[in-house]
Amino acid sequence: MSLHHDAYDISYPPPRKAVLLVTCMDLRLMDDVVQFMDHDNLTNRYDHVTIAGCALGALGANGKHPHWVDTFKDHFKIAHELREFEDVYIIEHRDCGAYKKFLGKKGGSFDDTPADQEREREVHARWAYEAAEVMKEWARRMGVPLNVRSFLMNLRGDVKPLAPPADPSVDGKG
Ligand SMILES: [Zn+2]
Repeated sequence: MSLHHDAYDISYPPPRKAVLLVTCMDLRLMDDVVQFMDHDNLTNRYDHVTIAGCALGALGANGKHPHWVDTFKDHFKIAHELREFEDVYIIEHRDCGAYKKFLGKKGGSFDDTPADQEREREVHARWAYEAAEVMKEWARRMGVPLNVRSFLMNLRGDVKPLAPPADPSVDGKG
């Protein structure tokens, strides 16, 4: 947990309406997630879906829990009925135990070297952007607009926008 976030690396205009927030269930970062949402002018303006592994879990946990896709889709639709949100935030996080569990030690665990930190970023980007595409397709079929922003949080609670994967084939499945 960290107390001060004067400088998130964030430059886009904050959303004006309520958003749908998707995060992992990780207990270490819940307070940091709330703090980040407060910073984005979204205090009490988001429905929060927590799912182990965040985007990876929402896409069925690499085939380990395929029914989670339907669970996530049901939450997406209910939240949309209630809020008519136009923005989704996906906040992935580093050192995710669910990534280790669902992708295995080789694909889902990362050490502190710069190379491995970049690989970790890349794997999260791959799943987050795939989840974004899936949600955009749901929204398209519903005939509603949707923006999806993806982020990566570290264990201090620092948040950075997650750039698209450089190599979409890097999914950690190895
Ligand atoms: Zn996690």
